[in-house]
Amino acid sequence: MPRSTRTVDLLLLGASEVVTLDGGTGPKAGVEAMNDLGVLPQAGVAVHRGKIVEVGPSLELARKYRAWRRILCRGRTILPGLVDAHTHPVFAHMREQEFALRCRGATYEEIFAAGGGIHASAAHLRDTPLDVLAAGVRKRLDRMLLHGTTTAEAKSGYGLSTKAEIKSLKALARGGREHPVTVVPTFLGAHAVPPEYKDRRGAYVREVIDEMIPRVAREKLAVFCDVFVEEGAFTAEEGLRILKAGLRHGLRPKVHADEFRDGGGAKLAASVGAISAEHLGGTGPEGIRAMAKAGVIPVLLPATCLFLSLKRPDARGMIEAGCAVALATDFNPGSSPTENLHLVAALGCTDLGMTPEEVITAITRNAAAAAGVESTRGRIAVGRPADLLVIDAPSYLSIPYRLGTNLTHLVVAGGKVVVERGRRCGVKRS
Ligand SMILES: [Zn+2]
Repeated sequence: MPRSTRTVDLLLLGASEVVTLDGGTGPKAGVEAMNDLGVLPQAGVAVHRGKIVEVGPSLELARKYRAWRRILCRGRTILPGLVDAHTHPVFAHMREQEFALRCRGATYEEIFAAGGGIHASAAHLRDTPLDVLAAGVRKRLDRMLLHGTTTAEAKSGYGLSTKAEIKSLKALARGGREHPVTVVPTFLGAHAVPPEYKDRRGAYVREVIDEMIPRVAREKLAVFCDVFVEEGAFTAEEGLRILKAGLRHGLRPKVHADEFRDGGGAKLAASVGAISAEHLGGTGPEGIRAMAKAGVIPVLLPATCLFLSLKRPDARGMIEAGCAVALATDFNPGSSPTENLHLVAALGCTDLGMTPEEVITAITRNAAAAAGVESTRGRIAVGRPADLLVIDAPSYLSIPYRLGTNLTHLVVAGGKVVVERGRRCGVKRS
């Protein structure tokens, strides 16, 4: 009897593994769930009209579907498109000169105190037109895509004035418009106290609360409100006021917490019901328990720890306490100038003591949850947008093992092939 076949737009067949990350709801929390990747051997994915229509054994898919385009993935691995849950892509310049100074002995805090660091970025950003900033964002999103990242949470925070923060978020929106990478915008006006407010920091906090947040919400420029709680930045009390103001305007809280020492940032995140707390190198057992209890997702940034020689966060303690740990690049010009999540995954294993399975969960499904897009991103499942990464290796193990090598072979975003043989394709460049 003739078999009925259906025609789909795209059929990926013959992969050594399809790493689905499927099953259950919400992020994967704790040891058992984070180590369960839902791997299908000798499998494929059928895609139609931008969505995943079937995932399963390759032979079955080949019998069942005809396709406008069939791609053989023999010896390769299919994963969900990667999700970068913490990036700062809106800035005017990289800061390689500062890096050179640091290599000669200056510390990050010395550079910061001397008016370098974030303040240098803020001064440059204020002088840079919106379209130039947007072009910079686009270039950085392109590079993320070449590394297999199809969704990125992206923060403002190098403007540090109402005008420049609004400009930053508009540059993010413009840079991300019609780009294959899905951008989730976060307002981070409370990234640092700008130098002109040095002696009247309360006035800056009021500007964030009374001017920036209402305007960001009114113009729908962000989904999240973030605050940098740290000695030299904002206190936990200021952070709480800012995050509550964000909540009143419909912005969900996130916290840059305990990067250098335990300043109560993780506990603040738990008390305010933040979706995530990020950095966490200084977070102790109490903060970890609070996050686990409140379901706050720890977003760990091991590339930053490596670049600044910071204390590593207690990833094992967090996973064993039942947290759903995510990993991200923290891409920014000062403390983590890399868009490469493959490197971050490797560091998750070598520096944070995570297993290969845990780091894969942390850059897909748990990262999607931290970015608030768990219902549509971070796993390969029927009915979801087809955001897929095909790596040029027969197992997901190669991602952490190859220590930052970009193994990206093919990227599908929204059902379209956008990277092929490691190169951008299918785009008209202006
Ligand atoms: Zn950050």
